[in-house]
Amino acid sequence: MRFVDEFRDPEIIHRTAEELKRQVDPTRHYRFMEVCGGHTHAIYRFGLKDVLPSNIELIHGPGCPVCVLPMGRIDDGLSMAKDRQVVFAAFGDMMRVPGTTGSPLEHKARGADVRIVYSPSDALKLARTNPDKQVMFFAIGFETTAPSTALTLMRARAEGIKNFSVFCNHVTIIPAIRAILDSPDMRLDAFIGPGHVSTVIGCRPYEWIALHERKPVVVSGFEPLDMLQSILMILRQLNAGEARIENQYKRVVPWEGNSAALKAMAEVFQLRPYFEWRGLGFISQSALKIRDEYAEWDAEHRFHIPGIRVTDPKAAQCGEVLKGVLKPAQCKLFGCECTPEHPVGALMVSTEGSCAAYYNYEHRKAMVMNIAPAA
Ligand code: SF4
Repeated sequence: MRFVDEFRDPEIIHRTAEELKRQVDPTRHYRFMEVCGGHTHAIYRFGLKDVLPSNIELIHGPGCPVCVLPMGRIDDGLSMAKDRQVVFAAFGDMMRVPGTTGSPLEHKARGADVRIVYSPSDALKLARTNPDKQVMFFAIGFETTAPSTALTLMRARAEGIKNFSVFCNHVTIIPAIRAILDSPDMRLDAFIGPGHVSTVIGCRPYEWIALHERKPVVVSGFEPLDMLQSILMILRQLNAGEARIENQYKRVVPWEGNSAALKAMAEVFQLRPYFEWRGLGFISQSALKIRDEYAEWDAEHRFHIPGIRVTDPKAAQCGEVLKGVLKPAQCKLFGCECTPEHPVGALMVSTEGSCAAYYNYEHRKAMVMNIAPAA
């Protein structure tokens, strides 16, 4: 199978769904976490819950980088943009994320030089073409996007570009999974492993989950058939009393990862001793810091960063939703104070955020059809 259409073929999806029904134990309730925000989006977009047996519960994980970034880091980034010499450059999905004094877009409306870029090298281009400005790239993402930030920093150093820096907010997935497994209120049977991150880190970093936690992990693609096959692979392991790492997304994910990308990351980044995650608190060695050799291009060296710590609004239950303890619609603000048009929390902004995905697919559908949305 090589083409997208084959992964959306209704006949094969129907057959796979039937096989899933045969594999489930009707006396058991299954809780599988999809780690990646891209999977959360696919689940709602393709209505996968409608074809799954009702005793399979999918728990949304922490794999949306915009969602897990604490508000204080957004405020820290925006504090640099107050200097009129500074260009605040970031990906589009950061633009509407609320900080305590507004989102980057709102800061732009007040006169800050805020620009959307599609890659870190676009931000570097901005620095080349605006030599009288300081271009600060707000870097965000898991291991998926960290290599391109690393390569851009290597290029900035090689070219001696002095008016470019990176505010590094890259995080790593394994410590977050560990924190979830350590959480006392979390009971999970297996993980649908993240497809994008695994293209870089490969499958080996998950082996401890099978070995020590006795939970299957199946790294999955993002098409409907990918996800159904992954769930089927998990069920087969559970039925056989096994806990292994499997790679359903072999057409993209190499078992050993991408050595060139990992090498670039190792050249430029080191682990921070700890980093704050929204909803999960401080997690040790869970984020990347720019190495001293690249300090000249590190915004945390170049600018004064206030190190703001902010607690989310009391009624916002982003933390519980991020940990999978609550479903999006169970947050008190969902659909009233917090909507995609007026987001209170980051989970309602990013397309990978579970609240935005639930709102855009389940909630809107229910409103159009005038029925109660599915839980
Ligand atoms: S509805 Fe809004 S406030 Fe509530 S959890 Fe989702 S993003 Fe956070």
